[in-house]
Order: sequence, then structure tokens, then C-alpha cells
Amino acid sequence: MLERLKPKLYVDSIFYLDLEQLKKLNVKGFIIDIDNTLVEWEEKTASERVKTWLRNLEIEGFKVCLVSNNTEDRVVKFNEELKLPAIHRAVKPRVSAFNKAMELMGTTPETTAVIGDQLFTDVLGGNRLDLFTILVIPLGNQELTWTKFVRKIEKVVLKRVLH
Ligand SMILES: [Mg+2]
Repeated sequence: MLERLKPKLYVDSIFYLDLEQLKKLNVKGFIIDIDNTLVEWEEKTASERVKTWLRNLEIEGFKVCLVSNNTEDRVVKFNEELKLPAIHRAVKPRVSAFNKAMELMGTTPETTAVIGDQLFTDVLGGNRLDLFTILVIPLGNQELTWTKFVRKIEKVVLKRVLH
């Protein structure tokens, strides 16, 4: 069980990702979470820095698909300008949205990475399909009480899986 919660890579933020290293690992597409991974909770749109980072992924030849458990409204608004393939109400850690994202990107489990801030949704879901899971430190603190509770458990689990 704990193995399933272990990210393949743990970085401070998306900006710390070494794209060249990921290319060497044969990563060709990224499934990317929105809330607290790309923007703070309920921040409506991406910052210029994030937009540039996402555009650069495509320039570097990677496919990108946004996969969020949040509502259609939230995801459509966030994606308005970005115009990336996107899946809302993904129900991560269920695997169906991850499979659909790979289909949209034309990638396979061997060539797909997942980037997200939550062990129990992003990492667990990605690991179930043997994707290259990347955990980032969550942005912002304005979260639902439930998520705050989950975070506390995540901290304990993370300590155990990383050591
Ligand atoms: Mg998130």
C-alpha cells in the first residue's frame, strides 16, 4: 500500500523540474493537476510564469493534458486561454481519467508522467498505472477542511515512504 503512495520524484514546484532529465527517462507527455499544483486553490487563471512554463513544455515537444477533480466551470475557465486538452471531475485516484488523458496525448504508461500535489489522488492514481509520478509542494493554504485533514495524513505517509 505505501509503495503505491510513493512518488517517483518529489520537487518543490513545477519550476524545479529538469525537462532534459525527464526526456532521458522517455517522458513524452504530462498529466498535470491544476489546484495547488499550477495555481493556488480557486485562483481563476494561471500566472504569466505558469503560462510560459506550460507553453515551453509544448515547445520542448511534450504533450500536456490537464486532469482535475474540480468542476467543469473551474477547469474550463482556467483553460480558456491555455486551450490544452483537459479533463474535469476526474475522480482521481480512479484510473479512468489517466487512461483518457494518455489517449488524448497519444502516450503510454511508459511515456507518461503525472504532476500533482496530492498523494491520495495524483500519486496514487498515477502509480496504479505505473506512470512516472511527480509530487510538488502544494501552493497556498486556503483549502477545504477535509483537504487540510488529508494533508496531515499525507505528511506522515510521506515521511515513511521517503525514508
Ligand atoms: Mg491539487
